[in-house]
Amino acid sequence: MTQLHTLSPAEAARAVPIDAGRPLLIVDVDEVLAHFMQGFERFVGRHGYEMRIDKFALFQNVYHAETGAPLDMEAGKRLFDDFFLQGADDLEPVAGAAEALEALAAQMSVIILTNAPDHGREARAGWLTFHGMDYPMIINSGLKGPVVADLAARTRGRVGFIDDLLPNLESVAESAPEVARFQMIADERLRPYAPTNKASHLWADDWAEMEVLIQQRLMP
Ligand SMILES: [Mg+2]
Repeated sequence: MTQLHTLSPAEAARAVPIDAGRPLLIVDVDEVLAHFMQGFERFVGRHGYEMRIDKFALFQNVYHAETGAPLDMEAGKRLFDDFFLQGADDLEPVAGAAEALEALAAQMSVIILTNAPDHGREARAGWLTFHGMDYPMIINSGLKGPVVADLAARTRGRVGFIDDLLPNLESVAESAPEVARFQMIADERLRPYAPTNKASHLWADDWAEMEVLIQQRLMP
């Protein structure tokens, strides 16, 4: 297979294996397949920080455990980068995700589309394989609409896109409006603060609900 890691996201979107005659499901990782907030919380906990979730944010929910001082952006960026190198063991898979993807993959192509630092590629691919989600993975940066449009152009079947972040869902709605959009936020503490647009992007609380929605929207 083509070595996807040598390619830009746009090139990877053209090289990744997609069956032109079947539906296509494009899936995010963090807060969709992996409990990112919980994992990051565990990781920063070993560095003297704790998480108090009271807004839809990452670094702004992290405080020094002893002083109570908020995490500054520079330390946050460092911890974030280290997390992608060393923190794979802290990430728990979201319940039912692997089973739902396995069932769906019998009927459609599945592609993982994740925004992660490039240095996290190996750990991330290893994590997906270890947890039974060994699908082709594209690492993207920035809004996902353009690369989703490139992927969607490669099939005559229906296309679906799952993400936790509203800006990505809105970006796909703009770049590839024919793609069905689904939102999921695995962390129940974060969920109440999440920006949503349920009239435009379907919402699922868990993978049992998500699997039903995808079947309804993607299978003719
Ligand atoms: Mg995510």
